[in-house]
Amino acid sequence: MSSHWNNVRLVGDGLLVPCIDGLERPYLSFDAAASTPSLVPVADRVAEFLPWYSSIHRGAGYKSQTATAAYEHARAAFLRFAGRPETDTAIICRNTTESINHLAYRLRFEPGDVVLTTVVEHHANLLPWGRVATRRHVECGRDGTFGVDDVIAGLDQRPHPKLLAITGASNVTGWLPPLDEIIAAAHERGVPVAVDAAQLAPHRPMPVGADFLSWSGHKMYAPFGVGVLLGPRSAFAEGDPFLAGGGAVELVDLDEVVWTDPPEREEAGSPNVVGAVALAASIEEYERLGWDAIIGHERAIADCLRKAVAGVPGVTVLGPGRGADTLPVISFTVDGMPQSLVAARLSAEFAIGVRHGCFCAHPYLIRLLGLSSEAVKQYRHRVLAGDRRSVPGAVRVSACLSTTAEDVDRLAGALAAVTAAKPSPVAYEQDVITGDFYPRSGRNAWTDGPTVRAGCGPG
Ligand code: PMP
Repeated sequence: MSSHWNNVRLVGDGLLVPCIDGLERPYLSFDAAASTPSLVPVADRVAEFLPWYSSIHRGAGYKSQTATAAYEHARAAFLRFAGRPETDTAIICRNTTESINHLAYRLRFEPGDVVLTTVVEHHANLLPWGRVATRRHVECGRDGTFGVDDVIAGLDQRPHPKLLAITGASNVTGWLPPLDEIIAAAHERGVPVAVDAAQLAPHRPMPVGADFLSWSGHKMYAPFGVGVLLGPRSAFAEGDPFLAGGGAVELVDLDEVVWTDPPEREEAGSPNVVGAVALAASIEEYERLGWDAIIGHERAIADCLRKAVAGVPGVTVLGPGRGADTLPVISFTVDGMPQSLVAARLSAEFAIGVRHGCFCAHPYLIRLLGLSSEAVKQYRHRVLAGDRRSVPGAVRVSACLSTTAEDVDRLAGALAAVTAAKPSPVAYEQDVITGDFYPRSGRNAWTDGPTVRAGCGPG
């Protein structure tokens, strides 16, 4: 594999960062599932657009008209990317979390209404539904997966759910639920489906049958603060919008408001035009590469990543085993070594960025790790007392479009050194409040640098 697969270049490629031995090494991100750098063509497009940036929709000036056209062009790109019909609309928001909260508000459930969701979800696809309705959960097995029949059992239980809210892909195990079959089963029972596509969107085509889709730009190489909520225009045509304010109205008097039509009805306030333009540019890059090439490349990387990580002595990979078609996202534990220490050592000694913790999916992690309710109670007690040192979790490595087999080799070598407890150049100490480890050294750039001790713990 060449160092730039299909000429995919990211802003910041090859950036040197300090390590605790005093050397600088090229930074290697294995944290794409959290956020990706900008693609170079995305950053170029943003730079090209900035001179034209202006307020949109309400300005008569040439720049306002140009910026409005760019924004609406982006909206059309989001619909095209998801393969949606003209009758759908794309509401441009901040991220997946906002998109799902927006939808949860807009569907106007009663507290007794049931939303069927799953224990595999990110908190962003659990908590908003619990605020507006009663949640029912599809359970998973010890391997972190469930089957279509498990979903059907939840759909057929009474009272029948008003919505199925399900992830397109897990941010922890990279598992891809059989979405098409699940959506078909829900639709046979008259239940609409909202898909959290935060992880799916960067890696696989969107499920065409889903009624609602939510995703973020920052996970697909457009980190400029934009997200998308996509659904039938009719779902947003009546009732109060999520946000009330300028741009969402036709007419306002002191005792009256006439809301305008979607999507503007749902986008009160000045929108993130630059973010929308950036995500549209990323979509154009996806179209240049084509799904067949992307999926082929990422499957090969996922396979070699899984083999490399699982082959390190002392490592246990969570989730479905080899042979399962997953995203290049792997979470694992290391015998006798806290996840936060593994992550700290990969960073400070090898310049490799990974994620650790519970990945904003606590119910899923509890199941994957096989924690008893008594153990969870004890951890909870300690966390509430301000001590996160023994909080369980895992290390997650996740690859992106530009990850190569050489990158995987570098990760595997570093992981093998860390897990073999090869002595580190300095000792590490653990922060009680965050549970994170930091090298104990005041003599080099690593500790003098940008470290703000913002722990990954609470995720
Ligand atoms: N859902 C999933 C599956 C995710 O992985 C994430 C991000 N980790 C989110 C939702 C939330 O996305 P955002 O932070 O962009 O709102």
